[in-house]
Amino acid sequence: MSSIHLCDINTCTQCHACESVCPKQCIDFKEAECGFFIPIIDKAVCVECGACINVCHQISYSKGYNLPLYTYAAWSLDENVRTSSSSGGVFSEIARYIIANDGVVVGAVMNKDLKVHHTIANSYENTIPMRGSKYVQSDLSGIYRQVKELLMNGILLLFTGTPCQIAGLNTFLKKDYKNLITCDLVCHGVPSQGSFDTYCDKVCLKRDGVSAVSFRYTQGWGLQMASKKYHASFVKDGKGKWKNISPKRSFYLRAFTKGLMFSEACYSCPYARPERVSDITLADYWGIGSIKPFNYSTTKGVSLLLVNTERGKNVIDECRLFLENRPLEEALKGNHNLSMCSARPSGRDTFCKDLETMSVFSLCRKYGLQPSFKDYLRPLKRMLKI
Ligand SMILES: Cc1cc2nc3c(=O)[nH]c(=O)nc-3n(C[C@H](O)[C@H](O)[C@H](O)COP(=O)(O)OP(=O)(O)OC[C@H]3O[C@@H](n4cnc5c(N)ncnc54)[C@H](O)[C@@H]3O)c2cc1C
Ligand code: SF4
Ligand code: SF4
Ligand code: SF4
Repeated sequence: MSSIHLCDINTCTQCHACESVCPKQCIDFKEAECGFFIPIIDKAVCVECGACINVCHQISYSKGYNLPLYTYAAWSLDENVRTSSSSGGVFSEIARYIIANDGVVVGAVMNKDLKVHHTIANSYENTIPMRGSKYVQSDLSGIYRQVKELLMNGILLLFTGTPCQIAGLNTFLKKDYKNLITCDLVCHGVPSQGSFDTYCDKVCLKRDGVSAVSFRYTQGWGLQMASKKYHASFVKDGKGKWKNISPKRSFYLRAFTKGLMFSEACYSCPYARPERVSDITLADYWGIGSIKPFNYSTTKGVSLLLVNTERGKNVIDECRLFLENRPLEEALKGNHNLSMCSARPSGRDTFCKDLETMSVFSLCRKYGLQPSFKDYLRPLKRMLKI
């Protein structure tokens, strides 16, 4: 019987690298808690080759980290891109550059069953569903293998995702590919697909025929949930119309902000630090102007853009972006997940179970998730454009 041990629920980030590399295909993912899965080895089949251990970034990460070379406030010069993205639309401009150079873009999309997974786009149009933050863990099953094949064929490839997803890819690939550009996000943590499914059922999104959810629907900068009944996101002028989800039903966003349903690994995340695993890092530029004056309006969204390698710099120099150099200390001051993990609240012990069984009213009361006066005022102000 094999004596190989992979990560447990406290450290596994569900990157699927171990499963992808196993020559005996004897690793399966089983649900452990709160909708998160962990790899289970069929000990009778395992030949103890150690390949899974060698590709696990939580056990064998060796690629190293880069302290940002450049810190920018940035946004897309295309106003439509800027206002329909979570921060300043930098992702879409990098994607545009990669596609224009015959490359492919890998990122997270939500399908019409409201499931989030990584996919590969070879046209700019197909990168549009990747736009916007989905506050759900994205399923990576099989994607690293496909990426490796494309890289070996010399295709220019942009891989985007959370820092652990990039570290997982770096470890899986083992060697550096000059045609690979990696772009991570500053990451607060991820809830499971299971928790999001339970939430959707609870507030009857699926029953109401919803086939797309946005977590950052603001036509500007901020957090606001919205839903759409037709999946029309591939075409700009599609029939689907976004509708705000009411503050009362948007308790998912407040539970996300409070960190009540993250993967256990997120509370001891090794990537919540200024040194980065990617060529480029994107985030919201919270706290802009706190150290050095910033003389532009931020209402349409501002990205924090960290360029961590010369390869990243070469790409950014070719993108259609507003850029202003900023002090790294300002970025660190405004965005705590750049230097520390999200704290594990005591409510994490019970929240996922309660999400399944309690009424929305009781759940919100128990965990302090009731909407504030500001939550009601925000959509109104937006409607009145004040
Ligand atoms: C789970 C999560 C937590 C985050 N936490 C923070 C935070 O604490 N502080 C902060 O400043 N910023 C955070 N961000 C990043 C921020 O919300 C923006 O995504 C980022 O600033 C890029 O914005 P953009 O306007 O350039 O591009 P956008 O178009 O808004 O971003 C799209 C990019 O995000 C990727 N993406 C979207 N959803 C996921 C997902 N579920 N998993 C992996 N990749 C995904 C896409 O692949 C694409 O690369 C988080 C994002 C996610 C997805
Ligand atoms: S040690 Fe080898 S055979 Fe065993 S689970 Fe890991 S990769 Fe598969
Ligand atoms: S390789 Fe990824 S999925 Fe496998 S144990 Fe490590 S973190 Fe978990
Ligand atoms: S907080 Fe860390 S472990 Fe959790 S999803 Fe983000 S990068 Fe991965």
